[in-house]
Amino acid sequence: MVEEEFSFGMLFAGTITFGLFLLIVFLFLKMLDTVYISWFKRPAWVHFYLYKKKLSEDQKVILRKKLNFYNRLSSVGKRRFEHRLKCFIDDKTFIPRQDFVLGEDKKLLIAGTAVMLTFGMRKFMLPILEKIIVYPEEFYSTIDERYHKGEFNPRLKALVLSWKDFEEGFRVEDDNLNLGIHEFTHAIHLNSIKRSDTASIVFSDGFSELLRLLRNEDLVTEIKKSEFIRDYAFTNEFEFLAVVVENFIESPTEFRSQFPGLYNKIQQMFNFRFAGY
Ligand SMILES: [Zn+2]
Repeated sequence: MVEEEFSFGMLFAGTITFGLFLLIVFLFLKMLDTVYISWFKRPAWVHFYLYKKKLSEDQKVILRKKLNFYNRLSSVGKRRFEHRLKCFIDDKTFIPRQDFVLGEDKKLLIAGTAVMLTFGMRKFMLPILEKIIVYPEEFYSTIDERYHKGEFNPRLKALVLSWKDFEEGFRVEDDNLNLGIHEFTHAIHLNSIKRSDTASIVFSDGFSELLRLLRNEDLVTEIKKSEFIRDYAFTNEFEFLAVVVENFIESPTEFRSQFPGLYNKIQQMFNFRFAGY
């Protein structure tokens, strides 16, 4: 009886010590992570999964046909992309409107746009976004009584897209117009304002630095004169970001050579370190 009590006490003390040890290791790693982010302005690691979800062979064929970003990834990168894409599609509710048929290929391309943009970030699920509503073409918004091609509505946690315009954004790859990239950038931006994970900190800090960069009036005049970035960017700071990210994805080489400082900030915010960027 005495022996049993003694063993139980030892086990209890051992468990507490081990628990404390794990807690100390966790806090130490968290501190290292914070220091790494503040020094290098990017996360120490991006991809770590105990288990990776898989896409079907048919889904992978669609990706190969439709998404160049996916094709340019290494085989390890492709497996990570597929896992993230499956998680994202399973998590979001896709709602077609006006009898639109939202097939698997369309869902993959829409979700693939979000996964591409967040592929350099540790957190990629965008909790601020729950629904993706897709109209066949431009839709009427009762908020401002105008027709829209796309919008992100944080109150409804919904991203709304016109499929016709979304598809056109991908069909013409180098005209710096891409509705999907534009609207998902709004979602990522607002998500970073509401959250405090590593990706959001890197993104928000980078955005503050980007705004500081734009206080340089000479640079702003130069950007406007170049006509490389379309005028709509100067509507407000949110639109500026969404428009320049369209340029960043569609014409990275020209962007880097024309405005290297601005280009580097976008690259830093998205931790976008992939072939060609
Ligand atoms: Zn916009």
